[in-house]
Amino acid sequence: MISVEQARQVILAACPTLRPRWLPLGAALGCVTAGPVVAGHDVPSFANSAMDGFAVRAADTAGAPVTLRVVGTAAAGAPPGVEVGPGEAVRIMTGGVLPAGADAVVMVERTSAAGNDEVTIEVAAGPGDHIRRPGEDLQAGQVLFEPGTELGPGHLGVLASVGAETVEVIPPARVGVLSTGDELVAGVGALRPGQIRDSNRPMLLALVAQAGWLPVDLGTAPDDESAITAAIERGVADCDAIITSGGVSVGDFDFVKTVLDRIGDMHWWQVAVRPAKPLAFGTVGCTPVFGLPGNPVSSMVSFELFARPALRQMTGHGTLFRPEVPAVADEPLRRHPDGKLHLVRVVATPDADGRLHIRSSGGQGSHLLRAMALANALALLPDGDGVDAGGTVKVVLLT
Ligand code: AMP
Ligand code: MG
Repeated sequence: MISVEQARQVILAACPTLRPRWLPLGAALGCVTAGPVVAGHDVPSFANSAMDGFAVRAADTAGAPVTLRVVGTAAAGAPPGVEVGPGEAVRIMTGGVLPAGADAVVMVERTSAAGNDEVTIEVAAGPGDHIRRPGEDLQAGQVLFEPGTELGPGHLGVLASVGAETVEVIPPARVGVLSTGDELVAGVGALRPGQIRDSNRPMLLALVAQAGWLPVDLGTAPDDESAITAAIERGVADCDAIITSGGVSVGDFDFVKTVLDRIGDMHWWQVAVRPAKPLAFGTVGCTPVFGLPGNPVSSMVSFELFARPALRQMTGHGTLFRPEVPAVADEPLRRHPDGKLHLVRVVATPDADGRLHIRSSGGQGSHLLRAMALANALALLPDGDGVDAGGTVKVVLLT
């Protein structure tokens, strides 16, 4: 048996970062920038009003209240085409271009109408009041985001504000997902005796999509060498990485093993972890292939432990692993010494002080997927007898 860390080390060494690409902003959410992102122009690019009100010469308002002549209107969207001379004001909206001559804005709440085309300014304004200066937010040539920044909605907004149409990022990985097993039925058809539905494929495709990558459905292959070969070769031609489930343990019909040994350069591991002990990892050509175990909980845990960090590295993320935090066990979490790390499916809930408390989310067999689905964390029980109620245990947060 090898440790989780040893397996991860070998895997990460075989999963280099993908080549950068320029992507339209709309396709770059969650991607990591490949170079510095530089502002193409100032934001704001012109002096404008931060308030609805009146653009004035500050000096004119020194003896407020004062009444000024209103010589025009500056709405947002176009220059007003008038200047503010001595004793004059221009009605201005938020975002409106500051007219020449004006050096301050008085908010409308500090003014009152005074006869035709006149306004009374009730408070003295200082130069620059309620004016947004050019370049106050961003300056042309400024580095907006360092390489390695994960682009969220806010980042995409900033890029749009400087007129960027595309951004250079590590593209999302295309990840092929293949289920294997003679017993599998895809979809809703009736089950004959001995058949089960393929739950791993929808689950793994969803895990890929949730992480922001591009799931590629490679379908379900029976325990048949040529069908599995064809599906994996299709995946290698089209994907950056491939995930299979089933057929990697020591059963008689585990043909994934036969195929990958023939066309790939594989490791066949027993990892000192429960669930998710059997794991195949290697490359076919340059494409990383993760041969996950068939039991659904093992498949999902194996994805979390091994495939997700590797795919995060391929997609340029600096942080590969999910956070591990301490939690209080609200019930005993028992186990037997067996040389393995045990991952217990738990529900973690913060108390009023922000401390996490955990309880088992249900049956812990590796075929009991519901308890995995209901869990929001995996408790890490090191080799030993487990933990008593009230004891502290580390958990990996899944959400
Ligand atoms: P295997 O790893 O092929 O020996 O399969 C281990 C267990 O997982 C068996 O009970 C399989 O029926 C089950 N299994 C394999 N693939 C899937 C799948 N795609 N969906 C649900 N269960 C599966
Ligand atoms: Mg099988």
